[in-house]
Amino acid sequence: MAELRPIVLLVDEQKLVHSLVASMLIKAPDIELHHCYESDKAVAMAEHIGPTVILQDLQMAGISGMELLQEYRSRTAIAEVPVLMLSATTAPEVKAEAFARGADDYLEKMPHPIEMIARIRHHSRAYTDHLERAAALQALENERQKLAEANLALELLSSLDGLTGIANRRYFDTAFEREWQRAMRETEPISLFMIDVDYFKSYNDNYGHQAGDECLQRVANALAEVLQRPADIVARYGGEEFIALLPGTHSRGVLQVAEVMRKAVMALQLPHAHSPVAAVVTVSIGLATVLPMLKHEPTELIAAADQALYAAKRDGRNRVISNGF
Ligand code: GH3
Ligand code: MG
Ligand code: MG
Repeated sequence: MAELRPIVLLVDEQKLVHSLVASMLIKAPDIELHHCYESDKAVAMAEHIGPTVILQDLQMAGISGMELLQEYRSRTAIAEVPVLMLSATTAPEVKAEAFARGADDYLEKMPHPIEMIARIRHHSRAYTDHLERAAALQALENERQKLAEANLALELLSSLDGLTGIANRRYFDTAFEREWQRAMRETEPISLFMIDVDYFKSYNDNYGHQAGDECLQRVANALAEVLQRPADIVARYGGEEFIALLPGTHSRGVLQVAEVMRKAVMALQLPHAHSPVAAVVTVSIGLATVLPMLKHEPTELIAAADQALYAAKRDGRNRVISNGF
């Protein structure tokens, strides 16, 4: 980045000082000089111009130079602009106070033009360097933020089943492990549903794979809509099988929730002329509930729900069977 040219705002009520400083800077045409003759206009002018250095007279009839210094510091846009105090006072106490209040330099009226120019350049460069570093840091922070957002989107994407848009098995496995631990800590029960589309092979065979895919999407949506609690999860477990996790005690009772799911799939009214159990697509659901304890393994709950599903199939499909576990 090309070095920014110094922009000086001179705040002084004496016209003579202005012409003196202007003549001092003749040898440095790259330095842009702005003049402010009234102390009560200084802050607004500084905010408007955006100087890289403020040359501030200390003794003014209006607002004092010290007060103005504090004003500059309190305005975000100009808070860090270097302020060089110009004063006829040589008293060390006054100089010390100026520095204590945040002045960046103190010049006795009037320094040699070479010194004046050198100090302006020095402070201006320090300030613009600082601005550049801050901008670079901000750009870095923006990049970091973008990356974090992209990662989050990627994380979300890798948690979703590509066909149905509901959670996938990978997401389910992680959530199940987490909920299992939580249930154990809080001595809360945890329920699992294994949900399987009935006679789906013949659905595919008769209506085609594409129609089968659409059927799975509709079923997934219907199942997901039933589960409204934030901690409840329904995921595609594989093929035409879904799994649902319901932590805690459900007021309606998990058996009823499973019944609602089964009915919700029927209510889709997806014709299935080749199903021996109904004229529409149906699901069988196996459900198991456990109060997780150290002697249990999460896989036992899955196995129990699987057994219940098997029983539901064996008993005629399109039904919910609960496994006392
Ligand atoms: P059951 O009532 O015992 O569950 O019988 P079923 O025919 O549903 O069970 P089976 O396991 O014999 O067949 C499942 C079928 O699901 C076979 C497979 O082609 C189909 N399938 C699995 N994944 C997909 C998928 O992503 N899209 C489609 N269209 N079909 C799928
Ligand atoms: Mg099936
Ligand atoms: Mg199956």
